[in-house]
Amino acid sequence: TPWARQLSGVRGVLHTIRTADMEIRNIAIIAHVDHGKTTLVDQLLKQSGSFRDNQHVAERAMDSNDLERERGITILAKCTSVVWKDTRINIIDTPGHADFGGEVERILSMVDGAIILVDSAEGALPQTKFVLGKALKRGIRPIVVVNKIDRSDARPDEVHEEMFDLFASLDADETQLDFPMLYASGRQGWADETLDGPKKDLSPLFDLVLRHVPTPGLDPDAPFGMVATILESDNFLGRILTGRVEQGRARVNMPVRVMRRDGSIVETGRLTKLLSFRGLDRVPVEEAEAGDIIAVAGLSDATIPDTIASPEVGEPLPSTPVDPPTLSMT
Ligand code: GDP
Repeated sequence: TPWARQLSGVRGVLHTIRTADMEIRNIAIIAHVDHGKTTLVDQLLKQSGSFRDNQHVAERAMDSNDLERERGITILAKCTSVVWKDTRINIIDTPGHADFGGEVERILSMVDGAIILVDSAEGALPQTKFVLGKALKRGIRPIVVVNKIDRSDARPDEVHEEMFDLFASLDADETQLDFPMLYASGRQGWADETLDGPKKDLSPLFDLVLRHVPTPGLDPDAPFGMVATILESDNFLGRILTGRVEQGRARVNMPVRVMRRDGSIVETGRLTKLLSFRGLDRVPVEEAEAGDIIAVAGLSDATIPDTIASPEVGEPLPSTPVDPPTLSMT
């Protein structure tokens, strides 16, 4: 259970890894099941040097379903993070299911871009249509990756057309319809703009993300505020709330207030732990800035989609309500 290990590792010394001098890109990854999302993310981690020597590819950040069952909680989304050319790319896995409508909206509210991964033989499949539609509605301009090009039955040109038709059927605007597209084999670890490219590595995908996805563009000098987007429970740290810092800076031990969507204050407390994503790990940091996605501990009543903010923030930040049935915690 890699997540358990990551979290228990948090017990150690407080690292001071500042993110302030780095650029950030936050992206969602959207794919029909089995179209190769996990394999591709593993390769992105590997090629960006984000795997530690003692981590095995088998320990996959986006594959912690057993742990979810074990703990009796629902982790509907997973974050991972890679660094490419001094830019931190936070990658958030998106549940493909219409059942998780509110969850999908909350995740999409943290990102400025998306990768839509599609199997070059199977083509566009309906499970991703719902999420893609939500992303397009939010004005996100997705990158299309036609994956598994190594398959003997790959039909990349047809799949390209299918994706165009899918975008069009979802009322994509002109800039969205003009989507950048790469051919890739996640298994072989490459992506190229053309079918006769060098098939060397995933640098074309990393570079495209940096070029095509906007920076979060949020104000680091405002008072701190974040919206709790993912709720987890850890034996040692207790409640862990993940979300994007929407404004200002989070600092360890800073006093905060927790607000419901109706503005009621449910808790005042301190952020005793800030965790930032590093590859498959979450590492303690002392500070995080507007735009970064972090997990915080130290609050006992906060839930999703509460606003966690400095006391001078008077109103809850915009958020998407949780659909019934609400997440069950044990
Ligand atoms: P996910 O469900 O989207 O996370 O998909 P996985 O990454 O688990 O991959 C699903 C299956 O497709 C596995 O059997 C992979 O080995 C296989 N697969 C993943 N990427 C590729 C690829 O680039 N080419 C081929 N031929 N198979 C792949």
